[in-house]
Amino acid sequence: MDNINWSELAFGYVKTDYNVRCYYRNGKWGKVEISSSEYVPIHIAATAIHYGQESFEGMKAFKGKDGRVRLFRWEDNAKRMQDSAEGIMMAEPPVELFKEMINKVIKMNMRFVPPYGTGASLYIRPLLIGTGPQVGVRPADEYLLMIFVTPVGPYFKEGFSPVSMLITREFDRAAPLGTGKYKVGGNYAASLTSIKKAHDGGYANVLYLDAKEKKYIDECGPANFFGIKNNTYITPKSDSILPSITNKSLITLAEDMGLKTERRPVVLEELETFDEVGACGTAAVISPINRIKDDESGKVYTYGKDPGEISTKLFNKLIAIQNGDEEDKFGWVDFVE
Ligand SMILES: *Cc1c(COP(=O)(O)O)cnc(C)c1O
Repeated sequence: MDNINWSELAFGYVKTDYNVRCYYRNGKWGKVEISSSEYVPIHIAATAIHYGQESFEGMKAFKGKDGRVRLFRWEDNAKRMQDSAEGIMMAEPPVELFKEMINKVIKMNMRFVPPYGTGASLYIRPLLIGTGPQVGVRPADEYLLMIFVTPVGPYFKEGFSPVSMLITREFDRAAPLGTGKYKVGGNYAASLTSIKKAHDGGYANVLYLDAKEKKYIDECGPANFFGIKNNTYITPKSDSILPSITNKSLITLAEDMGLKTERRPVVLEELETFDEVGACGTAAVISPINRIKDDESGKVYTYGKDPGEISTKLFNKLIAIQNGDEEDKFGWVDFVE
């Protein structure tokens, strides 16, 4: 792939030149290896492929006007991967190893970092898997941390535009004391049936309620949920929500813009009272929501057909910091060099 049409790129996989890998064996992490293969040789009894011992991360690198490549809050991703590893009993990659590997994989694939102004970016996908064989259910004794990168297009090709969400009580994504707060593949496997149902009905994704009482707003597809009213940014607090770094950043930006912020349980009925609602995560930063349908009660919550004013401001602000157009006053950006 030599002539990439940056503005036509989808949010999908494009083969790049190299990926990086590091094995944990005999109680320690080995040397970082560079690979040009897209395949991973794996033991037939590896815990990752039987018992779901795997976690992943997702972050982006952006090229600024100055040509320098910026990473957004990579250390938070490193720490979150450690939390996920601890949560499903895998070896925790040291933050320094994580850093060495992301820098290496980006530098080796520099030609795939989209130019400034295209809206495209380089998506970075770290993956930690149990590679040691087990037949009984127990943690592996060997692990593999891999990182690949792939250029991705702007999430909103036709500009920043709202999506619709479906509330269904037919499926849960994560149990109250389960793994919802970790970035592990099992949560995604558990979400596929409900997402299919949403897609079949013409919805972008599922707005999950808490699994126990079906009373509170929980996760929003593969993203966090937020609502805005009375000059306040409100996001649900729950033990089954993945702590989004985008959400955390939006909270800081909202406070900086003079909004109040609250992280607390949000009851379903409160959906009626918000002026703006949205989903947030690395892929889209913010997906404004214009419509939420509850498939049991038939109730439909609607919001403006255009993105709300505050959501738009937050979106533009975060993108500007990531691209280096705005001063990085919170110290969120690091350079690849
Ligand atoms: C990755 C992820 C998010 C978003 O997290 P960011 O750090 O903002 O990218 C939200 N919810 C789930 C379930 C996720 O896996």
